[in-house]
Amino acid sequence: MRRGFSVRRVALKVDCDTYVGTRDGIPRLLEILDARRIRATFFFTFGPDRSGIAARRFFTTPGFLQKMLRSRAASLYGFPTVLYGTLLPAPVIGEKCEGAIRSVAQAGHETGVHAWDHVAWQDYLDRWPEEKIAEQNGFAHAAYERILGEPAPASAAAGWAANARSLAIEEERNLLYTSNSRLGAPFFPKSNGRVFRTLEIPTSLATLDETLSWPQLNDDESQRRFFREAPGGTQVHTIHTEVEGRSKADLFERILDDWIADGTSFVLLSQLAREALSQREEVPVRDLARARLKFDRARRPFARRSGWFSPRWADPSWSISRFSGEWRWFIGSGTVRII
Ligand SMILES: [Zn+2]
Repeated sequence: MRRGFSVRRVALKVDCDTYVGTRDGIPRLLEILDARRIRATFFFTFGPDRSGIAARRFFTTPGFLQKMLRSRAASLYGFPTVLYGTLLPAPVIGEKCEGAIRSVAQAGHETGVHAWDHVAWQDYLDRWPEEKIAEQNGFAHAAYERILGEPAPASAAAGWAANARSLAIEEERNLLYTSNSRLGAPFFPKSNGRVFRTLEIPTSLATLDETLSWPQLNDDESQRRFFREAPGGTQVHTIHTEVEGRSKADLFERILDDWIADGTSFVLLSQLAREALSQREEVPVRDLARARLKFDRARRPFARRSGWFSPRWADPSWSISRFSGEWRWFIGSGTVRII
């Protein structure tokens, strides 16, 4: 392996959000990863796929048409997916895709829990009482154990949505780590005055389904350049079975091959967790802040996502700072406004 000054380690976090993504995206991704001898960490959604409800929400959002045209969401996610839970019944992913889910573990990848009802978790977490959060969390972990034969070692919140109540429920599962947030290095989250002892490992890079809607990255070449020029050091990169495992599989392969050509190595999230926990006293405690990510130049949301991040992270090329009352996330030449 060629080792330059820009040595990079990437942990691939694979989110399985939908029925079609789990059914069709997993086999394709397993091929892509196997061909390059890369191991990754997959997080599964087990309950009903109500993506149609998320799509309906997009339709009622001002600026939807432009966003749809720019991101080509229907071709990105597939047409049936944008109807599930509305015009078509919601398929229960854990019942329909047991084989695909097991094939991930059989291929030697790491696995964990993403969600029961992904769309509901993202939309209603803050309004749910503790019992409802515990129920959703319980359904997902029970399905994981039924299909994979052992308790999940880790979890990653759907849509990066977490709060003090969901962290408290997860804490009781004694997970090796969670991956619920964006930006920065592993830390112990602090929320409502409580410091949690479950290690949190954030996603540190922008995701392809986000960058595809950025106007200055308007072709595959510029997308490849963006990821190739992403910062060195250890990074957690989230991909989606619906996107990198389907319509954008070829582009994802090129991104991986660029990284490999530059000497990037791949690690598992559990390895990052063990490294951090072997020096537990060095791991920082960080407050969490809630943020909605917006792409500044387009002046419209590039992803209807809010999520947790830890303010005060600073990195030469990926930095976040408070600017005229707003958090701004500087990524290369683009600016992401966090409101
Ligand atoms: Zn997800």
